[in-house]
Amino acid sequence: MPRISAKAETFGESVIRDMTRLALRHEAVNLAQGFPDFPCPPELKEAAKAALDADINQYAITWGAKRFRDAIAAKTSRTYPGWSVDPDTQVTVVCGATEGMISAMLAILDPGDEIVVFEPFYENYGPDAILSGAVPRYVTLHEPDWSIDEDELRAAFTSRTRGIVITSPHNPTGKVFTRAELDLIAELCLERDVVAFTDEIYEHIVYEGEHIPLATLPGMAERVVAVNSMSKTYSVTGWRVGWVIASPELTGGIRKVHDFVTVGAAAPLQEAGVVALSLPDSYYDHLATDYQTRRDALLPSLEAAGFRVFVPDGAYYVMTDISGIAGGQDDVTFAKRLVVDPGVATVPGSSFYSRPELGRSKIRFAFPKRPETLAAAAERLSRLRVPAA
Ligand code: PLP
Repeated sequence: MPRISAKAETFGESVIRDMTRLALRHEAVNLAQGFPDFPCPPELKEAAKAALDADINQYAITWGAKRFRDAIAAKTSRTYPGWSVDPDTQVTVVCGATEGMISAMLAILDPGDEIVVFEPFYENYGPDAILSGAVPRYVTLHEPDWSIDEDELRAAFTSRTRGIVITSPHNPTGKVFTRAELDLIAELCLERDVVAFTDEIYEHIVYEGEHIPLATLPGMAERVVAVNSMSKTYSVTGWRVGWVIASPELTGGIRKVHDFVTVGAAAPLQEAGVVALSLPDSYYDHLATDYQTRRDALLPSLEAAGFRVFVPDGAYYVMTDISGIAGGQDDVTFAKRLVVDPGVATVPGSSFYSRPELGRSKIRFAFPKRPETLAAAAERLSRLRVPAA
């Protein structure tokens, strides 16, 4: 009987996308998966349509259309003065941050290498590491402020450590890593010759503190693989266009893997990407303020319904503790019940942990939604009652 590989056996299907399917079935308000239910900027749609009409419909250069790579390098240096990026040797355009992260890990890690991952973590990193043959070593972010214990982090670095994943702002907690935390991570990477895979897709969604790319810390540019995407910043999660910035040497490996996995990202959408990355600074200011308004609309309704909220400093998720409202039910049972009655989809906390027990009293809400969607969710949650134990 044909069977799937041992690698594929070791992880399950995405819980987040599973919750979205459940939400559709029960017509629930979907605060599970992190995609906007509002339109992207109109100039992006115009640019994409114009590119199709201009017959930009064949393969772009496998590592990305020259104009788009130039726009990525220019935008990066404009946002973070001092971070200089060569578009010809340091940028690879990929099919979203998802492809960027796994192509980078496949290109850089060898079987048996270890990679440090902070938990809770965005669910892709586990399978990314496993498919690359690497062994994830999890380091806990401690609630309520999701802080790092320096001794635990140091202890996670062993003679086999080749990589570390840093997501800031962080999904699912909304943590924005501080300069002191990044200094510690940089010190360890430099001391132990470790590559940092940074997931920067929420770089422009920050409410407290500031986003500091690890690559801008002294000595780090050559050992940071910065993964980014149009998905969140420009509200186009379905376009599947992202990019990876790394040293020329690491980029050489990433481009090879990327070429054989996907050949390239959608050519006309890369043209629209040129327009997106040339939007003025005011676009990013509005993006952050609009998300802060959504966050501030959602939080009181969660608290009123009985959730303990961990206020996010960035990204567009809220982790919550359900101990006071779940009547002893675990995260999965409670989240499945919420989808049906009162009809709000969320993600069970355990899906963000390697040790599911750490997330059993948590669920995550996503808020990249229109005011009316958030109001509908609030209205439904106001009907929530603690189930009989
Ligand atoms: N990285 C993080 C931290 C995410 O939260 C997500 C989506 O939710 C992704 C990557 C996926 O990004 P993309 O759509 O660019 O593949």
